[in-house]
Amino acid sequence: MIQPVQTDLFAVIGHPVAHSLSPTMMNAVFRNLGIPAVYLALDADSLEDDLRTLAAVGFRGLSVTIPHKESALRLAAEVDETAAAIGAVNTLRLQDGKWEGRNTDWIGAVEALKRETPLRSKKALVIGAGGAARAVAYGLKHEGASTTITNRTLSRGEDLARALQCELVPLETLAGLGDGHGFDLVVQCTSVGLAGRDSVLPLPDSFLVPGMVAMDIVYRPVWTPFLRSAAQRGCRVVKGYEMLLHQGVAQLEWWLEQTIPDQGGLQIMRSALEKALVHDSQD
Ligand code: NAP
Repeated sequence: MIQPVQTDLFAVIGHPVAHSLSPTMMNAVFRNLGIPAVYLALDADSLEDDLRTLAAVGFRGLSVTIPHKESALRLAAEVDETAAAIGAVNTLRLQDGKWEGRNTDWIGAVEALKRETPLRSKKALVIGAGGAARAVAYGLKHEGASTTITNRTLSRGEDLARALQCELVPLETLAGLGDGHGFDLVVQCTSVGLAGRDSVLPLPDSFLVPGMVAMDIVYRPVWTPFLRSAAQRGCRVVKGYEMLLHQGVAQLEWWLEQTIPDQGGLQIMRSALEKALVHDSQD
């Protein structure tokens, strides 16, 4: 059977995936650390068959993105408790011919936030109730933050709050309160602000107060309407690509079973991302 012999193979699988920044970030660190591996972007439309094919060809690890994270959870031969609790697998590793699944999105979010603020006992608000909000809320709770969910569609917010045992506050209630309502940090996890989508903020500007930590997980564009407002209102901002970066580091560490150093590893990945995003904004 055909197998790679000099170079390990990794990829991101999704649909669509042509504009993924993951190959840029991952190949930069492989080159820099002298790891004989390549990372590809593969458009996958039939996950079950595609995973069989990629295992047969000898891919060692996969990043899984939209719309396959839930199917990957179902199809992996083994998943850990965290991925099961989040309900999504964003990372697969081939072990003895079988795919093992993990979730590193929550690690990406908490690592990005922890570089700005400790999370234990902080009062955190998650805006959104989709797949990404679920991973972020899981991470915040895991780190000991008191976590509240708010979402446009109340019933989805309620489902998430119930599943993770978080508080829920209707968006309209928060919008009426203004002035931060005592939250230390806010994570914008809706698709609002994504290039080409709705840019009307889910909460009024007056909710953002000086000193609050504000992260938007949308990273295209880097300066989303939410991050711009947060910076103007004196918040400490965390950019969305920091989550992408740190979830990628966690993937690499699991695949390679080695620590990725900040200097020469993570810094290289960040520079590659920043360069690609600057290029992006000039398109
Ligand atoms: P999703 O499952 O489709 O959820 C979308 C969320 O956005 C829902 O809560 C939805 O509310 C809300 N929403 C959409 N339009 C809205 C509007 N006009 N006003 C208020 N709320 C609105 O998507 P997802 O997978 O969670 O991803 C969300 C975003 O996170 C995407 O833009 C993605 O690019 C980004 N993301 C970033 C990273 C990273 O590493 N930085 C990782 C994963 C995802 P309803 O429930 O009311 O529809």
